[in-house]
Amino acid sequence: MPTMYQTMSDEELTHALSELEALADKIRARKLSLDMARGKPSPEQVDLSRPMLSVLDADADLFDEGVDCSNYGCFEGIPSARRMGAHLLGCPADQVLALGSSSLLIEHDMLAMFWRKGSLGAMPWSEYAVANDGVRVKALCPSPGYDRHFAISADLGMENIVVPMGAEGPDMDEVEHLVASDASMKAIWCVPKYSNPVGITYSNDVVHRLATMKTAAPDFKILWDNAYCVHDLADAGDELANIFEVARSAGTEDRIVAFASTSKITFPGAGIAFIGASPAGIHEFAHYMQAGLISADKLNQLRHTRFLPDAEAMRAHMQRHAELLRPRFAAVERVLSEGLRGTNCARWTRPHGGYFVSLDGVPGSAKRIVELCATLGVRLTPAGATFPGGLDPQDTNIRIAPSYPTLEELHEALEVLVVAIKLVSAQIVLE
Ligand code: PLP
Repeated sequence: MPTMYQTMSDEELTHALSELEALADKIRARKLSLDMARGKPSPEQVDLSRPMLSVLDADADLFDEGVDCSNYGCFEGIPSARRMGAHLLGCPADQVLALGSSSLLIEHDMLAMFWRKGSLGAMPWSEYAVANDGVRVKALCPSPGYDRHFAISADLGMENIVVPMGAEGPDMDEVEHLVASDASMKAIWCVPKYSNPVGITYSNDVVHRLATMKTAAPDFKILWDNAYCVHDLADAGDELANIFEVARSAGTEDRIVAFASTSKITFPGAGIAFIGASPAGIHEFAHYMQAGLISADKLNQLRHTRFLPDAEAMRAHMQRHAELLRPRFAAVERVLSEGLRGTNCARWTRPHGGYFVSLDGVPGSAKRIVELCATLGVRLTPAGATFPGGLDPQDTNIRIAPSYPTLEELHEALEVLVVAIKLVSAQIVLE
């Protein structure tokens, strides 16, 4: 479909452009300073967890089911925290480690283990190239995806391979094709629920195909980052199939490595992070981590599980987050659909949870839109960040993170974004 500007006469286009430029000048004069760049909870959301800070005081019982949380020990995490992790990850508690405060750091450590030591008897990934004529090991990166994932695999020296992201998850024909005959394909990054940034939840078919597909690499890993597993915007959230159950019956459980944290449940960067894997996989990783860790912060774990003792408490807490997030996602939908109606200059997602809306402009527009927004006082995630190496081949994708600004700021920022999208789309036609 052509954009509105492509269907205009030269005269109409020049007129539309000068109107948009005048609008942009007016915005610039307001010297705004707005931020829609990173998916951080708002201060009100973070405040929901303040009562947790009073849960443990000087007189508190610091035992969790017989474990003394005030001293070293219990490397695997306290029993109540492992149960919380099991609930989030969908695997048995004895297959979960409750560790520090960042799931991303666990992902980094896990890949470092595969790189340095290999997994379950397979060759370390770092040695693969030496044994295979310099061919590097590869990570599949469904894109648009999460920049920090791609940065971890790239940092180790893996080659990141783009796989298109569709409405049901990664393009599975492509994934199956790539992994079936090439043993250098070692892993796939997945954010299976309310994916960052496209907001979709993997379909049952995609989960099933991932868990059961034939892989040339016997040590292939599905890096299942379930960061948004309980982050529904409405009561009836998306349903994600349990990949552990599918893999267990297919005999492929060793390929699943799942992660989650309470970063967007309680305090970002100060919550509990979890990893779940097969019995053999979790045993191996625990052994690897024990070289550098005696035990994680069990007092923080205890504070969390006293504050959110069961699934019902978690659900009620997440509903309160959703009440704060829903108006923000509604604002994105309203301002974009009103501002861009009939223009065909962009399409965007309408997620049922998570933290992001993913917008695609016309080819060649994303970098320019983000740059223009910056000059107008609105900071967005850098264009391209949602692709490995920051290279969006079509230069269309922009990640919108509506959670942090106030509703008023968000409205303003979105209105600026609408003007920038129109202005850049019109300029592209004229060039
Ligand atoms: N994984 C995904 C998919 C994320 O979007 C984020 C944060 O935005 C993280 C992990 C970071 O989690 P943590 O704070 O537990 O390291």
